[in-house]
Amino acid sequence: MHLPRLLAAALALCASSLFVPTPSPAAPPPTKLVRVQLDLGLPLDSILARHFDIASVKRGAWVDIMAHPGDEALLQELGAPYRVIDDAVEQHYAERAQRELAARPRPEPAKVLSAARPDGVFRIESLPPVGSGSMGGYWTLAEVKMKLDSLVAGDTRDLVADKIDTVGWTIEGRPIWRLKLGKYAADPDPRPAVYYSALTHAREAEGMQALFWFVDDLLARYDTDAFAKYLLDQRLISVCPVVNPDGYAYNETMNPAGGGQWRKNRRPNAGGSYGVDLNRNFGYMWGYDNLGSSGTPSRDDYRGTAAFSEPETQAQRDLVAALKPVTGISFHTYSDDFLHPWGYANIAPTDSAAWYEWNDEATLGSTYIAGLGPRVLYVTNGDFNDWSYGDTAMKPRCYSWTPEVGNDADGFWPLPSRIVPLAEENLRKCYLVAAIAGPWVRIESSSLAEGTLDAGFPAHLAVRARNRGLGATPPNLAATLVPLDAGAGVYPSGNTVAYPALAPRTSADATGDATFIIAATDTVTPGRLVRFEVDFTADSGYFSRDTVEVIVGRPTVLLAEPCNALTDWTSSAGWGVVASDADHPDHYFTDSPAGNYPNSANLRLIYKGRLDLTAGVHAWAVLEAKWFLEQTYDGTVVEASLDSVT
Ligand SMILES: [Zn+2]
Repeated sequence: MHLPRLLAAALALCASSLFVPTPSPAAPPPTKLVRVQLDLGLPLDSILARHFDIASVKRGAWVDIMAHPGDEALLQELGAPYRVIDDAVEQHYAERAQRELAARPRPEPAKVLSAARPDGVFRIESLPPVGSGSMGGYWTLAEVKMKLDSLVAGDTRDLVADKIDTVGWTIEGRPIWRLKLGKYAADPDPRPAVYYSALTHAREAEGMQALFWFVDDLLARYDTDAFAKYLLDQRLISVCPVVNPDGYAYNETMNPAGGGQWRKNRRPNAGGSYGVDLNRNFGYMWGYDNLGSSGTPSRDDYRGTAAFSEPETQAQRDLVAALKPVTGISFHTYSDDFLHPWGYANIAPTDSAAWYEWNDEATLGSTYIAGLGPRVLYVTNGDFNDWSYGDTAMKPRCYSWTPEVGNDADGFWPLPSRIVPLAEENLRKCYLVAAIAGPWVRIESSSLAEGTLDAGFPAHLAVRARNRGLGATPPNLAATLVPLDAGAGVYPSGNTVAYPALAPRTSADATGDATFIIAATDTVTPGRLVRFEVDFTADSGYFSRDTVEVIVGRPTVLLAEPCNALTDWTSSAGWGVVASDADHPDHYFTDSPAGNYPNSANLRLIYKGRLDLTAGVHAWAVLEAKWFLEQTYDGTVVEASLDSVT
């Protein structure tokens, strides 16, 4: 069944004796989570212009704000319709975490040798596993130090640097740590560098946990996974898990069970307020307008008195200028987004096509929405990604993204049981960013010379390769095909084809149009899907892999719908045919030919006839579909029924 269908809906601790603790300030009043209606005419820009502490946005519907003292009065002054969702955010985050932690056995901590205490002396310390940190499930600053020390001490393969670097010191005298990963190589080290950071915003601890989860995963795979080995052998990976330690320590002091809502650093500002938003303080388009950052020191997106006025941003500027990373990730939470430049204005970067090619790879299998901040979330200026990409005077372009980890239910302090799942859903993004810093070859397309793979007969499989990375492939690029499923075979065994060297973001067929010879034994019933792994290798230890899927046998087509008319379909109101889409010259069916789909709609399209599948063993429905669905609210389902009812 071939059914082009397009839903064109437009809705779219400190390790140093230099540390001098500052006196604890008085406990601040609780933060309230309030939801402001945007569907009654209030534009999002009027909220941005007042510089509320925005937690989440549902465009055209509402914006969730962390309301601090004075904010409710400001909302009333604006005439903004709102309701309080949570009147004591910190307390409720902490309570829900404690309830969950109290209901499960306390996991055994690891014993690690660490200089996690202020005196800088190494002792045996107890490090809880990921998800069981002492701060509502999250690692405290001391526990982050224990983890870093344990990574250094536990390295027997020369994959982790011999020491933790301090790349800068904060206003309150805390070190900003950096750990280098990558098989040891003498300087100068020509390998492409990748830069990962987390906890720019002090309440976004899940990003730090996700970053360590990636580090552990990568190191654990080194001896058994050729791709992890390649990345650790051929990349220089820098990790700064806490770039705002003063802010994080403040949350730990004020809300030791988690839930703290401090976001900025701890700069004492003129006028008596504290903090600069570090992700508005970088020096590209700094202070571009007053929507993307604030000039008022007390606001949560205060940009500071000058670009790079803060030691935390200076430290990152100097590190990035020295390291010259090709790619990076700056972890934040939350909104299930994957953001890239530009953030300062709704302008696509000149190499937009490249960004979107990488976005598609990075978010495969997840529901994160990728794109520019101003389109996906909201406008920002002076952020890390814009500077790393935009500043080409101090260093080359660095392609850096921000995963906004977690959904509205997770919020700023996801439940302890969500810490590992959220980290898992960001692993692919972390691997991709490391991969594309150099060559990264994938399958662009594949085809069978015979048209089909019939059980018992050989077929010739052509594989077109694409280098999706930012580095050229080393000489002698080749691919080897390995069958993954029972009954599938490659002949002769270990079949390899050669490719020309591929410049960044270019594609090629195999040299001399060489093909792999594959076969399925006659035990494979027609219609079964069999998979083959393609291992790309080249000189200098290059390795990447991808998968080809082939449906065995010659299909009998029972229905091929050209989508010229809805004659054969029963549809709910609204469905129609689009015949005039320049991007899609074929006709297609859509539930909303004229614009957005309506709210609270259940739009169905049901085939009037019956399809007799009794002659086949396996049946396939192949659809070409695309949609623009509202994340976490709407979905599409394709169903088959035996009786047209259930
Ligand atoms: Zn953030």
